[in-house]
Amino acid sequence: MKRIAVLTSGGDAPGMNAAIRAVTRCALEQGWEVFGVQRGYAGLVSGNFQEFNARSVGGIIQQGGTILGSARCLEFQTEEGRMAALRELRQRDITGLVVIGGNGSQTGAFALSQMGVSVVGVASTIDNDLVGSDITIGVDTALNIALEAIDRLKITASSHMRAFLVEVMGRKCGYLALMTAIAGGAEVVVVPEIETTPEQVAQGLRAAYERGKAHALVVVAEGAKYNAEALVSYFKEHSARVGFDLRSTTLGHVQRGGAPTAYDRILATRLGAGAIAALANGEESALVGMLKGAVTATPLSEVVGVQKPIDPELLLLARVLDK
Ligand code: ATP
Repeated sequence: MKRIAVLTSGGDAPGMNAAIRAVTRCALEQGWEVFGVQRGYAGLVSGNFQEFNARSVGGIIQQGGTILGSARCLEFQTEEGRMAALRELRQRDITGLVVIGGNGSQTGAFALSQMGVSVVGVASTIDNDLVGSDITIGVDTALNIALEAIDRLKITASSHMRAFLVEVMGRKCGYLALMTAIAGGAEVVVVPEIETTPEQVAQGLRAAYERGKAHALVVVAEGAKYNAEALVSYFKEHSARVGFDLRSTTLGHVQRGGAPTAYDRILATRLGAGAIAALANGEESALVGMLKGAVTATPLSEVVGVQKPIDPELLLLARVLDK
């Protein structure tokens, strides 16, 4: 009988619970034993394991966050930390591990897979910064939460002829900001991949007013050189010349807290099931993601350290539509 463990790591993403559920129940279906690891790699290093049955993952598919908890574990980034994790796995005869998480988590997964454990990652982060998956678990929910905020801000912005800035998450990846801007009808979008100066933002907003708009909205990614804080301070300093105020809203962790959308629940379920299929097929070091509509396993060596480019066609579309 095979024994596997599952953990969630890095920033939590809505849909992680649906992935844990699918991993657990699909593994049980294979006749395997499953252990949930608490608090990501921290629980792996300290031996915080709990055996799961089908009931352990009941009633969680609709919940945001992760029942396993997550952590950022510096110790796992050291050789000693990973050796301690390896010992904990070996002591329990666990030969396979599923890592549900983002970029950093999959870097850790790759390192562990080089030490003789079969590791399969599940692409899960609201940043959508993982190559090997066109879309990752949590993005759809985070996007919908950002849109709800924007729709509301636009109403108040129109009443007062105000410019609003909304900062969304995404680390160094502008995907979430770009999609929020397109779906929310923003006038200006600022992404980390392309430097946009405060003066360019001011021009974009001014142009919107000149076209007769009652509101003007900027969506900015947290990882941009000129993020919300930098833009607001520039606008304050130059308010006389720029001619209008910029009110800023940083959505921050609110974006992570929602119940997963139907899309995220299904994506997470399919990728979780795909991770077990990959382990059953003998994969030893792979990321399971959704590529061109199909659940696909990509070697972790091709995923780790590779930056996902922003789609230039979508950037262009955002510019065309901000009329
Ligand atoms: P998100 O971007 O959605 O927050 P993430 O998985 O990218 O998720 P990180 O904080 O970057 O989040 O990484 C999570 C954990 O993965 C880290 O706390 C660490 O334990 C592990 N990790 C990150 N980088 C490495 C590395 N180079 N080697 C080993 N482990 C790593």
